[in-house]
Amino acid sequence: MSDDNSEPRGGEEVDSDESPGFSNLERSDLDDEASSQGLFDDLLSGEPIFENKEVLRPSYTPHELPHRSDQINKMATILVAALRGETPSNILIYGKTGTGKTASAKFVSKELESTSQKYSVPCDVEYINCEVTDTQYRVLAQLANKFIEKNEARIDDRVAELEELLEALDEYATDAESDPEFDPAGAAPEDAVESDGFGDTDGPERATATTDEVASTDELATGNEPETVDESSPVHPLESTPFDSRGEVETKIEDLEADKESFEEVPMTGWPTDRVYSVFFDAVDYDERVVVIMLDEIDKLVEKSGDDTLYNLSRMNSELENSRVSIIGISNDLKFTDFLDPRVKSSLGEEEIVFPPYDANQLRDILEHRSNVAFKPGALSDDVIPLCAAFAAQEHGDARRALDLLRTAGELAERSQTETIVEEHVRQAQDKIELDRVVEVVRTLPTQSKLVLFAIILLEKNGVHSINTGEVFNIYKRLCEEIDADVLTQRRVTDLISELDMLGIVNAVVVSKGRYGRTKEISLSVPIDETEAVLLSDSRLSDIDDVQPFVQARFEN
Ligand code: ADP
Ligand code: MG
Repeated sequence: MSDDNSEPRGGEEVDSDESPGFSNLERSDLDDEASSQGLFDDLLSGEPIFENKEVLRPSYTPHELPHRSDQINKMATILVAALRGETPSNILIYGKTGTGKTASAKFVSKELESTSQKYSVPCDVEYINCEVTDTQYRVLAQLANKFIEKNEARIDDRVAELEELLEALDEYATDAESDPEFDPAGAAPEDAVESDGFGDTDGPERATATTDEVASTDELATGNEPETVDESSPVHPLESTPFDSRGEVETKIEDLEADKESFEEVPMTGWPTDRVYSVFFDAVDYDERVVVIMLDEIDKLVEKSGDDTLYNLSRMNSELENSRVSIIGISNDLKFTDFLDPRVKSSLGEEEIVFPPYDANQLRDILEHRSNVAFKPGALSDDVIPLCAAFAAQEHGDARRALDLLRTAGELAERSQTETIVEEHVRQAQDKIELDRVVEVVRTLPTQSKLVLFAIILLEKNGVHSINTGEVFNIYKRLCEEIDADVLTQRRVTDLISELDMLGIVNAVVVSKGRYGRTKEISLSVPIDETEAVLLSDSRLSDIDDVQPFVQARFEN
């Protein structure tokens, strides 16, 4: 494409007008009407910063995971049992967000599956993200449907094999018919017809008569491929199969097809949970195999729906006849097992693997590995990776944060049309990510908390300093009345303020007021305009059109 640029008018003006590689000079020569206004040209003309941005995204699974070999090896040591047909111990993996738990677990499960295929050991790994699939019903339904799918695929493979076997039987019979000395059981002896023979469809690899027999048959002596006939004796296709007759093979195919028909996919809602469980159970037990179920963000599932799922999964092995199940639970919350039934806790935590936070040096290694692929050579100035690593190390050693920072810094550099990413881009990226986080936290607050936060914002906007809980409560109460929301007690509102404090949205300090006792002084710790805009994007709050009276009202209480 770009080779054409030096000769933009090479006899094909219309086409070259649309060529994306045009330089400014060449474009200005062109007819105004046909030419674009250059919206994208400046952006295109700069040297791109990224070679491959995808490798910096969270969805990318790296092939190499520096500083996680201990954890990965430990998982492998436990899971290798599955490849020996034994049941691996259950594993519980802990670590804060961004410590590589999901990436490592996925890496190991990929290896496990491919090795099991290599050695033809039946082993299936199923991954479920419990943040998305967050009820027992959904987890079981998803697993049931995945195993039904696997069983169907297995049945299809098996049926295809059996159909090949039937074909082999046909050929065997045909060969037998055409060879008078060859007399397999059940084949009606009929004279072979010359023209019906060896010139046509049979492949060279077909099981065919022996060399001796060929020699004794005139027709074959003139055949096209005498050299392919080299087996010493024809092996009956059913030999070393569990079948004794063609009829048995056909029955088996029918049985398999009937099994396939009988699988009933679980709908995403509506069934009683025990029915879902039993479909799931049967689907898993349909075949002999070891099943590894990986439950990522397992703490979210327990928080939302209790530990019934884990209880049911962990007691399955005592009832399964053909298969065995092993569970890998992955949790961001180190203390989540405190909420588990003791039986579940001891079963699930047979083996525990901890993913510690990365330090700045480790994060630097991780970023360097990725940046080689992600960026054009020379796009990074030397201090960029160390700074991203340092910021992310402060953020509890979070590799996701480090990668986000690096990617965002690159995008900011790209937008400002510079050719290198410098320290300042990283600092801007840090601010941007922090603001994005605040926006997300505020957006997902419950309405009551939004109202409390809105009250604080209104007070600050009206120049009130040292805001106290009573003032917040008075404005909050009026906001509630205005939008017909329930009014919580002042005590509850105080709790909501503490929650906002913990989320880092407001800052509430207790100050002593001498003989008036102690009170909280509240201030906003996030950018006021952006936060207000997020609140007003909530349709309930945007109904409040004139807020001024509420603020004035605080003096009346
Ligand atoms: P967790 O599941 O612990 O929250 P992830 O496994 O999702 O963390 O990792 C977060 C991001 O950091 C992902 O993009 C992942 O690819 C990357 N990452 C984590 N650890 C490493 C590592 N050791 N090497 C390379 N990339 C890593
Ligand atoms: Mg994860």
